[in-house]
Amino acid sequence: MDGTLICPACGAQYPEDDVVWRCRCGSYLDLKETFRPDPTNFQGNHFLQRYSSVLPLRNPKNAASFGENPTPLHPMVFYGIPVQVKMDYLLATGSFKDRGAAVMINKCRELGISHIVEDSSGNSASAVAAYSALTGIDAHIFMPEGNSSAKTIQVSTYGATLHKIPGNRTDCAMAAEEAAADSYYAAHIWNPYFLHGTKTVIYEIMEQMNWDAPGYIFIPVGSGTQLLGICLGLQEMKRAGLITKYPRLMAVQSEHCTPVKNFALGKVTPELPKTPILAEGIAIRHPARLSQILQAVKETGGDTVTVTDRDIVEGLQMAAHQGVFMEPTSASAVAALKQYGNRLSAVDRVVVPLTGHGLKASSRIQQIMGTQ
Ligand SMILES: [Zn+2]
Repeated sequence: MDGTLICPACGAQYPEDDVVWRCRCGSYLDLKETFRPDPTNFQGNHFLQRYSSVLPLRNPKNAASFGENPTPLHPMVFYGIPVQVKMDYLLATGSFKDRGAAVMINKCRELGISHIVEDSSGNSASAVAAYSALTGIDAHIFMPEGNSSAKTIQVSTYGATLHKIPGNRTDCAMAAEEAAADSYYAAHIWNPYFLHGTKTVIYEIMEQMNWDAPGYIFIPVGSGTQLLGICLGLQEMKRAGLITKYPRLMAVQSEHCTPVKNFALGKVTPELPKTPILAEGIAIRHPARLSQILQAVKETGGDTVTVTDRDIVEGLQMAAHQGVFMEPTSASAVAALKQYGNRLSAVDRVVVPLTGHGLKASSRIQQIMGTQ
């Protein structure tokens, strides 16, 4: 495997041993290598093994893992629309971020990195902390001060050093970048290996759907690591002739923070409100890969959908009454179906990846729903 990193903005290239986290021009970096999936190579159960032929690890079969099984693709109904939900909140730390962290942290291990810095609103912090604990890497995690307590408890219990930063996610990222001067900035939003991890969800979905691609995938978008990973996987499948047409990737954002839509309209995203945002996982005002997110939406014929807090609460409750307890960020994708549903036809098959477990936000859910 060629581990060269390439800058999509200026074309600069870096050998993987340079362990840079962004280009000297300021852009994010991608992996130069492109993978050509062949399903006959998909052996084993957990995603690091099963999709090892399309992962940028030198020795993926020896990668550290929790032996993750494929997560279920489960039928539900929202607003009369039949939907397959991908239950990625059942991964080891309770969110889809385990896929990205598994590849990123194993890559750190391969490169001999023993100390890392990461900043996150919560789910990726937990995933990075867990895989760092698994591999013996010393992790320093920067999180916004007002985050869900369950997520901060999870991170520090894994043994990571937690730095609570006053302010928002941008303040947090700046503090982490500063600290990374003496460490490796394993930032999920910049790191290309993380995206190659999150792409495994679409391989699982496509196998579970017998390679018959759904019409739509509704995805909560903060930094876009799930949407970009899914797009990356779909591009690989299309190049290999496994699919002929893309599912439409629908970027779902909270009404409080809509950088993708604003970027498409040539507008600047306003400051975030001071109070904690219900869908905290997608409150990212300046996603590092914003142009790439918009390109993925365009390339797949997708769209952006903005949802209200009221609809998020309704979606969360509707899911819970079908036995599925998801965090508010996940419920934003359900809320998107309410307003976009009338544009879907009866033959459109819809997938909604469930990004995070409700238990991670139970105190917040208690506040908003008045549950005991
Ligand atoms: Zn560059």
